[in-house]
Amino acid sequence: MSVDTVSLTGWGRTAPTTAVRFRPRTHEEAAAVVRGRGPRGVIARGLGRSPGDAAQNAGGSVLDTTGLARIGGVDAAAGLVRCDAGVSLERLLRVLLPLGWLPPVVPGTGRVTVGGAIGSGLTGLDHRRSGSFARQVSALELLTADGEVRTVLPGTALFDATAGGLGLTGVILGATLRLRRVATALMSVSTERAGDLDDLLARFTAGGDRLPYGSAWIDLTARGRATGRGILTRGDHAPPNVRPAHAGRTLLRSRSGGPRGRFSLPGFPPLPGGLLGPASAALYNEVRYRGAPRARTGELRPVPAFFHAPDAFPDANLLYGRGGLVRYRFTVGYGQEETLHRVVRRIAARRSPAVRAVLQRFGAADPGALSFAAPGWSLALDLPAALPGLSRFLDGVDEEVATAGGRVCLAKDSRMRPETAAAMYPGLVDFRELRARLDPTEAFRSDLSRRLGL
Ligand SMILES: Cc1cc2nc3c(=O)[nH]c(=O)nc-3n(C[C@H](O)[C@H](O)[C@H](O)COP(=O)(O)OP(=O)(O)OC[C@H]3O[C@@H](n4cnc5c(N)ncnc54)[C@H](O)[C@@H]3O)c2cc1C
Repeated sequence: MSVDTVSLTGWGRTAPTTAVRFRPRTHEEAAAVVRGRGPRGVIARGLGRSPGDAAQNAGGSVLDTTGLARIGGVDAAAGLVRCDAGVSLERLLRVLLPLGWLPPVVPGTGRVTVGGAIGSGLTGLDHRRSGSFARQVSALELLTADGEVRTVLPGTALFDATAGGLGLTGVILGATLRLRRVATALMSVSTERAGDLDDLLARFTAGGDRLPYGSAWIDLTARGRATGRGILTRGDHAPPNVRPAHAGRTLLRSRSGGPRGRFSLPGFPPLPGGLLGPASAALYNEVRYRGAPRARTGELRPVPAFFHAPDAFPDANLLYGRGGLVRYRFTVGYGQEETLHRVVRRIAARRSPAVRAVLQRFGAADPGALSFAAPGWSLALDLPAALPGLSRFLDGVDEEVATAGGRVCLAKDSRMRPETAAAMYPGLVDFRELRARLDPTEAFRSDLSRRLGL
């Protein structure tokens, strides 16, 4: 096991703190880290892609799971695979796709671990159909505060608290995942340009869930009649008959390594270098919007290029300058579209240099007390953390979201107030009770849990 003392941040590069990092290679080594923790406790960390401070523990221990990286054989009859928590979704995709399987839920980046996906309540592009990543877990192994490993099954209070539980119930060591059968490694993709937010929402809901995967980019720099304009991208797995009869199998084999390759993304210009300002962001967004087709259907894209487009820009977080970035992700229910409109108008009116803004639709809520997803719209956007007055501005947006019965995603957070989090997550009371029973000495702690009093 490797051990070092390091300064850590999330993907947003805000609020670095120092911790002792342990990288165990076996479950026994991981248990020894938890048993030998110091007074500042321990927190699990995957690939550190959560934008905020969820996987940091100032002055304490951080258990890096990336050394736990075995993938078991696929149970083809049951459509299941068992893998260690430190396996990345990118690697899982590379292994599974040639066999004709897809991980249960695929997010907008492959550079996250299975443990991080469960612990952060990760959602994919087809939440209305599949729920969050944790909903497709049929069992997990959890290392708890007493140093014991428990098998935890869906439908139990401990499972629900661990799904989206931000590592605060223990360290997930491994999980059994349900898989989806796919005939090819290609997606059939439809792209539409929408002239404003109403148009975008209408297009998103039109056609129901015929194309199960969907997300939209919103131009948060457009104003006036174009406020909330965007590009809607939806897709489904291409059937084998879109190519000559043998192509399905061939493509499953040949394109599986895609996430590492360079993507050619239509309408996705290179990001401007240097610090992102209002003018460069508006220019970038204009080029991106105009570069997208007005309407196109049936475009074929490799699975990794469809799902993991942001991975083509691995250093996109450096664009936001030395202060890093704040990712603000919130959800409001169907029927609360006016709140979405107001938030988009506020960001646009402020001339915020927002180039990344992703709108998604959620289905049924996930059971976890701290789970983020609930039926409605979700908008995620990145802003430079150094923007003057950003904290006050986002506090105001928090209020709008809370008043509409919505919530801000804890796994992405780096700035919320504890009372706001408590108001948005009424299940926090039960979560704290369960933790107090399971982990009375608070073995599992993070900068996020201390900041928000989780
Ligand atoms: C470009 C980009 C795109 C993204 N797209 C999406 C998206 O589409 N959908 C989405 O939901 N999120 C998305 N995210 C956010 C991010 O991917 C998730 O938060 C992700 O799950 C983090 O995984 P990780 O392995 O990096 O975990 P970390 O960031 O290291 O940890 C995240 C949380 O999970 C806990 N955790 C990690 N490992 C374990 C474990 N083994 N046991 C228990 N708890 C654990 C940590 O304690 C922490 O609270 C995106 C992020 C980036 C940078």
